[in-house]
Amino acid sequence: MEFDEPTEKLLIDVARLDKDGETYAGVVDDAVLEMADNELLRPFGGIRYELFVQLFGTELLVRGTLAQDFDAVCCRCGCDFDFTTKVDDFTFNLEVNEKTEFADLTDELRQSIILSLPSYPICRQDCRGVCASCGKNLNEGPCTCEHTERDSRWGALDSLRLGGK
Ligand SMILES: [Zn+2]
Ligand SMILES: [Zn+2]
Repeated sequence: MEFDEPTEKLLIDVARLDKDGETYAGVVDDAVLEMADNELLRPFGGIRYELFVQLFGTELLVRGTLAQDFDAVCCRCGCDFDFTTKVDDFTFNLEVNEKTEFADLTDELRQSIILSLPSYPICRQDCRGVCASCGKNLNEGPCTCEHTERDSRWGALDSLRLGGK
């Protein structure tokens, strides 16, 4: 199989977990991120995870990595760009007992990805933004207006906010 089909949840089969631990790898549908209303960040392809899961007594220990691709809009210059957010140190532990059959980690995945996201996505660290007066993308060169650095950096974000209402 070339691609992993995304699943709706990440369930750990605690009752049947190998005593030496097991690797869980796959993709969870990124609809769980509930970001459909977000204009700046649109997830695609699902949350990829690669986790090692082990039971120590009554404690389930999970650690590994997560990644999620996004189509984003730069809040400085308004251009579209793609980026991948990665969580290299995802860890989670959960107290379980002999009645625990499955542990649902979907919500932990969601929270961890959300926390890893930038509040204001920018296409690159030194993005110059657009001129607030004439709208020229200053990454392509300077315009002839007189303007302050702040105007150009936040122009695209301000116009997006105004446009969204
Ligand atoms: Zn930009
Ligand atoms: Zn200008």
